[in-house]
Amino acid sequence: MAKEWGYASHNGPEHWHELYPIAKGDNQSPIELHTKDIKHDPSLQPWSASYDPGSAKTILNNGKTCRVVFDDTYDRSMLRGGPLSGPYRLRQFHLHWGSSDDHGSEHTVDGVKYAAELHLVHWNPKYNTFGEALKQPDGIAVVGIFLKIGREKGEFQILLDALDKVKTKGKEAPFTHFDPSCLFPACRDYWTYHGSFTTPPCEECIVWLLLKEPMTVSSDQMAKLRSLFASAENEPPVPLVGNWRPPQPVKGRVVRASFK
Ligand SMILES: [Zn+2]
Repeated sequence: MAKEWGYASHNGPEHWHELYPIAKGDNQSPIELHTKDIKHDPSLQPWSASYDPGSAKTILNNGKTCRVVFDDTYDRSMLRGGPLSGPYRLRQFHLHWGSSDDHGSEHTVDGVKYAAELHLVHWNPKYNTFGEALKQPDGIAVVGIFLKIGREKGEFQILLDALDKVKTKGKEAPFTHFDPSCLFPACRDYWTYHGSFTTPPCEECIVWLLLKEPMTVSSDQMAKLRSLFASAENEPPVPLVGNWRPPQPVKGRVVRASFK
């Protein structure tokens, strides 16, 4: 594999384990969800997010995704409840998407691929640093939200409008006063399981909360996301699309539902 991982045939998901052996581990993400096999767990609590819009800092194009970064030096933007044993701090969110509207999500639901998947990454401050949390099975909590094509979502447009400032790899711009809970669907029902980051090094430290209800965005909004480049300003242009990892083996793990 080339020095840097990616999503192309020479450095894509089939090659990641060469540099990151855990990518073939027993708790990898994403997975396929088969809803008829998923049991409701009545012990699962509702979850809540209280985000401080002032903790949003920057938006960045790292050539693999666009990411919004938050100040996580103290308890400002927090996720609580659900399957979590304590509060988790929001660190960043980012997206995965396809080359067209008919695929792009990482998790699939009964064979359905959504157009994109939003990941809000939180860490457990009982481990003191993000780096330490990455080494713990319950170190990270990711809220995953599917993006489905339909009506335009106004709140999502705020993010899309900022993409013009980070068109190419390596660009970063201020992105402040944004509360990502404005993107959440009305229904808080979720599936949960233990898994990993879907990008190298694919650490197995994640409590997943996958929301059952997708958020709806327009086809034009998806097209705007695909207008980013995986290449730097001074390089031949390569569109940033297809940044999703396919489903990984479940290996006996159990997915639980918060709802009947
Ligand atoms: Zn992700």
